[in-house]
Amino acid sequence: MTDKYDQEEELQELEELEDSTPEKAEVEDGKKGESDKGGDYEDVCFVCRRPESKAGKMFKLPNNICVCDDCMHKTMDAVSQFDYQGMLSDPQFQKDMDNMLKGNGMANIRFVNIADLQGEGGIPNKQKIKKKKKQENVQPVLNIRDIPAPHKIKASLDEYVVGQEHAKKVISVAVYNHYKRVATGTMDEIEIEKSNMLMIGPTGCGKTYLVKTLARLLDVPLAIADATSLTEAGYIGDDIESVISKLLAAADNDVEKAERGIVFIDEIDKIAKKKNTTSRDVSGESVQQGMLKLLEGAEVEVPVGANSKNAMVPLATVNTRNILFICGGAFPDLEDIIKERLTKTASIGFNAMLKDAFDKEKNILSHVTVEDLRKFGMIPEFIGRLPVIYTLEGLTQEMLVKILKEPRNAILKQYQKLLELDEVKLEFNEEALEAIAEKAMKQDTGARALRSIIEEFMLDIMYEIPKDDNIGRVTITREYIEGKGGPIIDIRSNMLLESSDTLKEYAQP
Ligand code: ADP
Repeated sequence: MTDKYDQEEELQELEELEDSTPEKAEVEDGKKGESDKGGDYEDVCFVCRRPESKAGKMFKLPNNICVCDDCMHKTMDAVSQFDYQGMLSDPQFQKDMDNMLKGNGMANIRFVNIADLQGEGGIPNKQKIKKKKKQENVQPVLNIRDIPAPHKIKASLDEYVVGQEHAKKVISVAVYNHYKRVATGTMDEIEIEKSNMLMIGPTGCGKTYLVKTLARLLDVPLAIADATSLTEAGYIGDDIESVISKLLAAADNDVEKAERGIVFIDEIDKIAKKKNTTSRDVSGESVQQGMLKLLEGAEVEVPVGANSKNAMVPLATVNTRNILFICGGAFPDLEDIIKERLTKTASIGFNAMLKDAFDKEKNILSHVTVEDLRKFGMIPEFIGRLPVIYTLEGLTQEMLVKILKEPRNAILKQYQKLLELDEVKLEFNEEALEAIAEKAMKQDTGARALRSIIEEFMLDIMYEIPKDDNIGRVTITREYIEGKGGPIIDIRSNMLLESSDTLKEYAQP
């Protein structure tokens, strides 16, 4: 014990000897033991890179350097075993000491500036872990009474997401149950299982949008990862655990917040088992295997502020027990598998169906079963950990028209707002909207096509309108969308013109 105190005293003396920078003074008379300006982040040991929560109290050295108790003692031990006697008899050392005492500075000693190694201001906050809050001040983020009831979650989703009634209903109930489970912790002997989800739907039908909206409404951190970039640990690509690292970044490095977040893994169909392959399937089946423990709930060590683990990055331990995983994918060939199964079961007996009976059915995906997914290449253990499986419908033309004008942040509303700032009213005919939806349907990329189509013809309008202060209203017509005519321009003085001269030349093909 006495040894330790001696060493601490020695350290303090050392600190005093160092020139006192303004930064240091601030630390000393401010809060003792808080070297970062934010105060919210944990200190990280300069030697072993472990954060304060793991390594215990830190010794503060000048230049924002912190060293943990273990490393400090190891250093002290090493120093105490040093052969001073041998060194003192070394003539070069004596010369250096003489020089130093004469005030000529230390020769050959300060060739590395430790402050440079640390960078200005120490380790960036991006790489630090937020301190855990003291227990007594913690308000539960999701109190059981605060979790909105499923119908309220759905009503909020309705404001943003058009159609997809079934998906919105399922997701609302699943999320409600999940956060009820999180808020309650373990319920006696009855442990409620996690309701991870698998979302199946064609591209551009709103899978990502649904999850994004949900995370925003619930105010929980969200990480969106792409399954195509994931590979088994050790291979080129992102480790599976990098998704948790992303979530931690989204939660501002606050581990507790991240542990209640949502992880959305898109393109999950791309990690199906590769068929007819003899080589190791590092980006398919292995990724599914690797994800099993994350989905179920495990403690994972993730690098803070970086994608890969290495010696210079501090690690944080995140428990995935309460993280909600939502996987989404288009599963392109799944329809054929379902059709095949349906016709097989319906081809025996009096009610036998024709082979192509299901060809015309639009939402064939909604008949999906676990067996179909297994056939597609998902391993049973993986599907078993995603108990809530549901499908999203492909968007119809009417839905596209609604998407254009109804959601809270609908594209048309965005443009109207933009032109409103120029005091110009922007209107769209019903037929114009239909024409846009027709065009989008042809592209077969769902609602994603809408934006590019609108951008294309709005460019001229956004370019020409600010030129003329007299324009009070612009009405987009079907003819304009189809390139056969121009928009209707209303001049402020209520003069109705077929089209302004400037726009006419752009509208004509
Ligand atoms: P994906 O299903 O491929 O993940 P996204 O969710 O990224 O598709 O959809 C792309 C864009 O289309 C979204 O940003 C959103 O603006 C729009 N969108 C798609 N589906 C809907 C919908 N049902 N309601 C409202 N907007 C939608």
